[in-house]
Amino acid sequence: MAAPGPVLCLLDVDGTLTTPQQKITKEMDDFLQKLRQKIKIGVVGRLDFEEVQEQLGSDHVWS
Ligand SMILES: [Mg+2]
Repeated sequence: MAAPGPVLCLLDVDGTLTTPQQKITKEMDDFLQKLRQKIKIGVVGRLDFEEVQEQLGSDHVWS
């Protein structure tokens, strides 16, 4: 069943996409790269932008 309209999926970083204060795993990164080809994704949480880049990597364009 297709979504009724545009979808934005907001994901927590620490404790969800990554183990707290750790870098993202290749498996999770691969999953997010595939997911973002289908829907808009964003990250939320208490981290500042530099910390998000450190944990999720800055080699992708997170926009
Ligand atoms: Mg968290």
